Amino acid sequence: MNKTSASTLPKLSFEDTKIAFSAKSNYQLKKAYWIFALMNQNWLVKLGTFFIKLFLFLHFPIKKLIKTTIFQQFCGGETIQECEGTIDHLQQLKIGTILDYSVEGEENEKSFQITKQEILKTIQKAHENQAIPYAVFKMTGIFQSELLEEYQTEMGLAEENEDAFQHSKEILIEICQAAHDLNVRLFIDAEESWIQNTIDQLTYEMMERFNQKQAIIFNTFQMYRVDMLNNLSHAIQTAKDNNYFLGVKLVRGAYLEKERQRAHEEEYSEPLHKDKEHTDRDFNAGTLACLANIKHVHFCIGTHNEQSCQLLVEEMTKLGIANNHPNIYFAQLLGMSDNISYNLAAAGYNVAKYVPYGPVEAVMPYLFRRAEENSSIAGQTSREFTLLLNEVKRRKNA
Ligand SMILES: Cc1cc2nc3c(=O)[nH]c(=O)nc-3n(C[C@H](O)[C@H](O)[C@H](O)COP(=O)(O)OP(=O)(O)OC[C@H]3O[C@@H](n4cnc5c(N)ncnc54)[C@H](O)[C@@H]3O)c2cc1C
Repeated sequence: MNKTSASTLPKLSFEDTKIAFSAKSNYQLKKAYWIFALMNQNWLVKLGTFFIKLFLFLHFPIKKLIKTTIFQQFCGGETIQECEGTIDHLQQLKIGTILDYSVEGEENEKSFQITKQEILKTIQKAHENQAIPYAVFKMTGIFQSELLEEYQTEMGLAEENEDAFQHSKEILIEICQAAHDLNVRLFIDAEESWIQNTIDQLTYEMMERFNQKQAIIFNTFQMYRVDMLNNLSHAIQTAKDNNYFLGVKLVRGAYLEKERQRAHEEEYSEPLHKDKEHTDRDFNAGTLACLANIKHVHFCIGTHNEQSCQLLVEEMTKLGIANNHPNIYFAQLLGMSDNISYNLAAAGYNVAKYVPYGPVEAVMPYLFRRAEENSSIAGQTSREFTLLLNEVKRRKNA
């Protein structure tokens, strides 16, 4: 194991807004400040979302306005080529890029083929460019959600759906094979619990096939689920028993409201923890479990939570694991938590940002989710907004 003594590790602070926003000119900082100031108003986000949807539906010419504001804050561009500037910019700050084709569209053969081609392009791009440590995709980009859901019911797939399922599985194999052949690590995002068992099963099948020499295929573990810490322990043991590397992306989970609503409507018990403390506890326990099995597990924590990042940093230091250990990554979303990403990267840790891209209209659902996430909850000021405000003040007084 690569050792670095604790005393040689730089001291880490996520409060350092000077580093976090070092790449932003005063103009860019002010612009980000105003975007987050507006998003911090819950009512404005609701109203804005309504009107943007309406204007796009009516084909009003608002694309340019969106593209130079919220799109520019959270997305790399409309195409991979348009993301080049962001990739280079992040690379200068020692931060990797994970190109995320964020189009959420129809579920038909045409869109599956478009998505497949796009994912293959991102894999090729990652192969050519060292600044791109991972590729990523969602199973619902290549499978019909209904089939993923049906597959995990007690009845299983109806006979007439078997061909369509198999066809999507062949697309999956083609994508994973390409990642394997080009030596590109590939994240498979986690989605809703009613399709996640199928996603898990398919992903483990791919891992067993392609993770023999190193972790190429990574599954995502949502630690807001009550069963997930157990699932993770089981996955670690299975990988050990079957001699393959386990690729893990740990997240808390993005579908809280949707999960709760469905459980309530269909009257089954919620698969999620009852409060955030339990989610935090399991996320941190999952991080430690991966660390304890670092010989078999390659992992990335996808989080904007400062305590969880701090915990991993501290545990790595305690165990004498080098901060740039190749099997350990931190990841955040573009335009969010730069205080974490930039400070970790400056201290020599492996950091990457998800860089969403796609046509403006098609990534709007993603952007609405970011706006909602950053709007004030019960009058609280969002963390991003507070950090930007601190940096504006710091520069004024500097
Ligand atoms: C790089 C990256 C990749 C990601 N990939 C995925 C993915 O593949 N699939 C996916 O689902 N999400 C994904 N996410 C989103 C992630 O799951 C979280 O929604 C998001 O990052 C917020 O959690 P946090 O750890 O950053 O921080 P925090 O702000 O500390 O945590 C917020 C999270 O805590 C949990 N939580 C909040 N309130 C409660 C409550 N009352 N009870 C129980 N739990 C609660 C929820 O999961 C919520 O999202 C990804 C995030 C990143 C940064």
